[in-house]
Amino acid sequence: MSETDQTPAQVRALTHMINGRPIDGTSQRFGDVFNPATGDVSARVPLASVAEVDAAVAAAKDAFPAWSETAPIKRARVLFKFKELLDRHHDELAELITREHGKVFSDAKGEVMRGIEIVEFACGIPNLLKTDFTDQIGGGIDNWNLRQPLGVVAGITPFNFPMMVPCWMFPVAIACGNTFVLKPSERDPSPSVRLAELLKEAGLPDGVFNVVHGDKVAVDALLVHPDVSALSFVGSTPIAEYIYTEGTKHGKRVQALGGAKNHLVVMPDADLDQAVDALIGAAYGSAGERCMAISVAVAVGHIADELIEKLTPRVKSLKIMNGMEAEAEMGPLVTAAHRVKVSGYIDAGIDAGAKLVVDGRGHQVPGHEKGFFLGGTLFDNVTTDMKIYREEIFGPVLCVVRVPDFASAVELINKNELANGVSCFTSDGGVARAFSRQIQIGMVGINVPIPVPMAWHSFGGWKKSLFGDHHAYGEEGVRFYTRYKSIMQRWPDSIAKGAEFTMPVAK
Ligand code: NAD
Repeated sequence: MSETDQTPAQVRALTHMINGRPIDGTSQRFGDVFNPATGDVSARVPLASVAEVDAAVAAAKDAFPAWSETAPIKRARVLFKFKELLDRHHDELAELITREHGKVFSDAKGEVMRGIEIVEFACGIPNLLKTDFTDQIGGGIDNWNLRQPLGVVAGITPFNFPMMVPCWMFPVAIACGNTFVLKPSERDPSPSVRLAELLKEAGLPDGVFNVVHGDKVAVDALLVHPDVSALSFVGSTPIAEYIYTEGTKHGKRVQALGGAKNHLVVMPDADLDQAVDALIGAAYGSAGERCMAISVAVAVGHIADELIEKLTPRVKSLKIMNGMEAEAEMGPLVTAAHRVKVSGYIDAGIDAGAKLVVDGRGHQVPGHEKGFFLGGTLFDNVTTDMKIYREEIFGPVLCVVRVPDFASAVELINKNELANGVSCFTSDGGVARAFSRQIQIGMVGINVPIPVPMAWHSFGGWKKSLFGDHHAYGEEGVRFYTRYKSIMQRWPDSIAKGAEFTMPVAK
């Protein structure tokens, strides 16, 4: 539905949040934000000009000296308050997510919780910034190190976790003493604005956290901005690679997390009912629009036929409806354009000769005919040369690949460049151990379908799922958002007389 079909009162006008204030877009470029369940435009988002990005970076730069000098314990106190506010507004945030992303409300609540957990982690920043000290390395000299903030750092985030992924970045970044500019996805931008409001309410000084909405124009402005020290990106692989290449070319520290093709291996000795439950939740939850969604089931040996037999009725009976309905198991896709793209992959799978077991195309939800729904889809006999295997579909499409044995499963997975997450269902400890050690993937689950690390571990894939040296959040996040400094010090009463021309060594 175009914006002109709506009465203006129904369409909220979103604003940037710069220096603690809502700022209307002046670029005269706007994007439509949809409610994917109804197909209606719900909001209009300004798409920032270079000047608007400059204003956000300038606000963050001005706020940096005072914020970086604020004691870590005081920065943590702001985050404690913020966490309290997130708890209080948990349902409201989840509803914002469901109404713009489409995922079911209970899942959106889970997303909010995973975001809160990073804030909880960041509340421990005084302890996390504690460093090593060596007394008396020699001659009255001590040596210790500091982790100092970088300055203005920016985050560019995808549509599929509009609250959790920004929370992978800014709580740790600002706890470390940096100031932040967030460029959220233009498809579901409201949660970011709400986060900025709640941070202000928690007592965060103006300018420490800013939100600029936008598209490539805003991202490119951040990539070349001389006052941006580091960039965290999460999104698709081609854009992640672009961000990493351009950002590092402009002297920035960059972590760029990309797309995924996550496999779940079902060994012949697996508890099949558990594996089927895992596959249904992990392939179709959030309509497959998760970077840790399972999109390939690798059926080992004789298990394949029984697996397909058990999956088929479950896929056909998925409760697909508006995510705000209490019984909903799966909501719509994020936009009409994305539905067309995912349907195109289903067409391609059929053309390539994969066996279409359940076809989700044309799925209608009564009363929501204009919503962006697609039914759950299941393919059998998928092979690695097919486009549906090679590329990330990012929709409710599960591909079953059949392999003869464990070694072939490991070999197949290790050849895939989208190495974000993986899982193996087995009841054999030896297989589990061998799998964990041999698999070349960043995050591994054993009888766990979506092994998203907790806040105090770190999140990240390998190969083309992550460009850069640091995973997100946890201790890796603290390292990414700080610069290491070593200090060696002695006082006049212990200074040796005369110049030294040899390499100093402990005496
Ligand atoms: P996307 O790459 O299209 O967009 C991500 C961000 O980049 C958005 O803010 C967008 O505005 C911006 N962007 C888009 N095109 C751009 C361009 N040409 N130049 C500069 N900036 C651009 O991703 P998406 O569709 O929003 O999100 C889905 C993707 O994100 C999937 O591939 C998914 O696997 C991935 N993802 C990965 C992780 C992870 O941790 N590895 C987590 C979540 C999502």
